[in-house]
Amino acid sequence: MAEPPAPYDVAVVGAGVVGSAVARELAGHELSVALLDARDDVGEGTSKANTALLHTGFDATPGTLESRLVRRGYALLSAYAEATGIPVERTGALLVAWTDEELAALPRLHDKAVANGYEHCAPLTAGEVYAQVPALGPGALGGLAVPGESVICSWTTALALATEARARGAAVLLGHRVEAAEPGPAATTLRTTAGDVAARWVVNAAGLAADTVDGLFGHGRFTVTPRRGELLVYDKLARPLAPRIVLPVPTARGKGVLISPTVYGNVMLGPTAEDVADRGDTATTAAGYDFLLARGRRLMPRLLAEEVTAAYAGLRAAIDRDDYLIEADPERRYLLAGGIRSTGLSASLAIAEHVRDLLGAAGLGLVPRTRLPAPPRMPNLGESAPRPYRDEELIARDGAYGRVVCFCERVTEGEIRDALRSPLPPAGPDGLRRRTRAMNGRCQGFSCAGEVEALLEAGP
Ligand SMILES: Cc1cc2nc3c(=O)[nH]c(=O)nc-3n(C[C@H](O)[C@H](O)[C@H](O)COP(=O)(O)OP(=O)(O)OC[C@H]3O[C@@H](n4cnc5c(N)ncnc54)[C@H](O)[C@@H]3O)c2cc1C
Repeated sequence: MAEPPAPYDVAVVGAGVVGSAVARELAGHELSVALLDARDDVGEGTSKANTALLHTGFDATPGTLESRLVRRGYALLSAYAEATGIPVERTGALLVAWTDEELAALPRLHDKAVANGYEHCAPLTAGEVYAQVPALGPGALGGLAVPGESVICSWTTALALATEARARGAAVLLGHRVEAAEPGPAATTLRTTAGDVAARWVVNAAGLAADTVDGLFGHGRFTVTPRRGELLVYDKLARPLAPRIVLPVPTARGKGVLISPTVYGNVMLGPTAEDVADRGDTATTAAGYDFLLARGRRLMPRLLAEEVTAAYAGLRAAIDRDDYLIEADPERRYLLAGGIRSTGLSASLAIAEHVRDLLGAAGLGLVPRTRLPAPPRMPNLGESAPRPYRDEELIARDGAYGRVVCFCERVTEGEIRDALRSPLPPAGPDGLRRRTRAMNGRCQGFSCAGEVEALLEAGP
């Protein structure tokens, strides 16, 4: 009889931005690592549907793990984006006060930013607020500038991290839903929908399902409540209206409804914050749409005259405490990374460092590998750097970059071909959209879906 395969040193459950960052970090050591996800692509959960802000952590609760990891994550992800070509735009943000109470709260928020180690906030008069974002609606009383807040491409971030984890030797096991965990003396056997995977240590980065997976390890310490956030995406013609991120004064329920430019040249309005029962309920609703339009009318009436290109919703993995829940269980050789709600994209690389340190303290041997492959250079999806359709030299070398397939987003056949040949190719049209922007424009694929799908079917 064939020998069962040797157990991995670590299995990471969940290939969102957090699990991918953890797998990448651990694969930088002399460890065999598996990154598992139930779905057929990386970054298919909350990591694909968020507001895509690279947060400084200025408004976190001082002293929390989240405050520390968002601050550190901001620095790490800024540098990583530079190294890999993840699109980032340094737009800065304005926190705008519309009522006397909000105006009175601004000095407190300024102090909070300082307590979080962020020293760059500056108070703004109403005149200064309008000078920075002239299209704001009437009635702004003052504001706080947060120059470090930035916009980033969340799709490329998850993909870059998983691609680098794989380049460092991690096995990326998609379509592996973990349904049971059976502890053994030397390794835990994860029973998955695609067969057994054994690992000496298991990291739970299962996002909205982190409590369920935690239960497989005998814990019952928390419950995830999906908090749905709906967003509207406005057409590119709206982009000049939003040169900066416009933030509301935060409330206990969250960061509130904001207006933000996107790295793809659009403007976003949202998100809502509504607790739902169903962990898969990413439907957009008429009530959410009406709520956002009412907010938008107040914040920036001119935005409402622009066309909405798309609406989408994501689910935050809210839990019953105001912090991340990251804990190692050395006895079971298991670690939980749970409750990573509304800042996980920004904090991902710092969460990975923290997980590594906790695992090390719990007994996992960590010997850094001396020779690592260079970080991947990701295709540029952002508008602030040149894209292939405008690159004459590239087109002269390879005509496929001169053949535009998706005209709304100016995506070329060469980019689609590259995505299909990449180390982690898309499993379908949605994955291709996140790798190229194809079908992500104002016609949402009405004109190009046929050709895009034909290219997908033809394969690399
Ligand atoms: C509306 C909204 C706006 C946000 N805005 C921002 C923002 O501006 N900036 C920011 O930093 N953060 C933001 N966030 C938060 C951020 O998106 C999340 O914190 C982050 O994506 C969480 O990543 P994750 O890897 O933990 O979860 P996920 O991306 O959900 O990944 C978990 C993965 O686990 C897999 N999985 C689950 N169960 C199993 C199982 N049994 N077996 C195998 N795999 C399993 C899932 O398929 C999924 O792919 C926002 C979130 C929302 C919803």
